[in-house]
Amino acid sequence: MSDKPSDLLTEFDLISRFFTSNTQSSSVVLGVGDDCAVVAVEPGQQLVMSIDTAVEGRHFPASAQAADIATRAFSTALSDLAAMGAEPRWFTLALTLPQANTAWLQAFSESLMQCAKQYACELVGGDTTQGPLTISVQVHGVVSENHFLRRSAAKAGDQLYVTGCVGNGAAALRYLLNGNALSISQDHQDYLHKHFYAPAVQIKAGLALVNVANAGIDISDGLLADLEHIALASDVDIDIDVDCLPLSPACLAVAQTHEQAVAYALSGGDDYQIAFTVPAENVTAVSNMIAQGLFRATKIGAVRDKKNAQAGVRCLSEGVPIYFESNNLQKGYQHFAS
Ligand code: ADP
Ligand code: MG
Repeated sequence: MSDKPSDLLTEFDLISRFFTSNTQSSSVVLGVGDDCAVVAVEPGQQLVMSIDTAVEGRHFPASAQAADIATRAFSTALSDLAAMGAEPRWFTLALTLPQANTAWLQAFSESLMQCAKQYACELVGGDTTQGPLTISVQVHGVVSENHFLRRSAAKAGDQLYVTGCVGNGAAALRYLLNGNALSISQDHQDYLHKHFYAPAVQIKAGLALVNVANAGIDISDGLLADLEHIALASDVDIDIDVDCLPLSPACLAVAQTHEQAVAYALSGGDDYQIAFTVPAENVTAVSNMIAQGLFRATKIGAVRDKKNAQAGVRCLSEGVPIYFESNNLQKGYQHFAS
């Protein structure tokens, strides 16, 4: 058994009060309450899993509200399923709490359950311990057999796209940390708050792209860093046309200069969008999906045969390669980097 979270509300009270649902779908053979959850996977489907951890002070400010922490922890974890083209089904929750505060737990669990419901993803188990506030969400989804997006399948000649806007993650963080010093409109503040704490997860896009894209990746660590993963895994070069990057008005307002907004978009991270590559024969199909409003996406570059021994990512403006001062532009976020 785990550590006891509080003398007032025991671990088991807490689980049954806030994290047990009595309306589970028939795919949940055994949900919260036994040693493990048991779920039924349809024949011909494969299970897709990913886990993400959010630590107070590192992934969200200590001032964040319980409801916001819940949506952020869940949505950022779910984004990995979107990037694989998987359909969300179940999740587990490992919750480490400094204390069992009823009001906090009420707000957290209501917001979590409501957010998960939007994506038809059900809580089937977890773990509860006492310690510094940390939330791990493990998401489970399904794909038809071998029918998913991966990093290693980009081909020279593919067009490169990204869903939604890029740069909002970095702009939102800057706003959340220095909000008072920035004079941006209430609409921009609300937009960035939502982007940071409750980003729309690109599940619909991922499900549609499985049929038309060669490669896909979630760009939560920053566009440059994540595209480099595709370049290396696929052994191709990738060109980004920085003039085409979809930047939101709120991002431009926080950045103040276009150049700074581009830097946010390329290296900021916390953008829960999918970058994907499309072979020439499927470009019309993707344009039609965008025109029909299935998802928003912008063409931002192309995949090329690699020129050097090591594959890589290049930025171009007006067709000319551009280079950034390395201290202005870091290649995404890495824990334990010096
Ligand atoms: P064990 O002793 O086997 O680790 P626990 O006592 O941690 O089991 O949990 C009891 C039951 O409650 C299990 O079914 C577990 O999946 C579930 N559970 C524990 N914490 C949570 C949580 N935060 N959210 C959802 N389910 C939880
Ligand atoms: Mg346990």
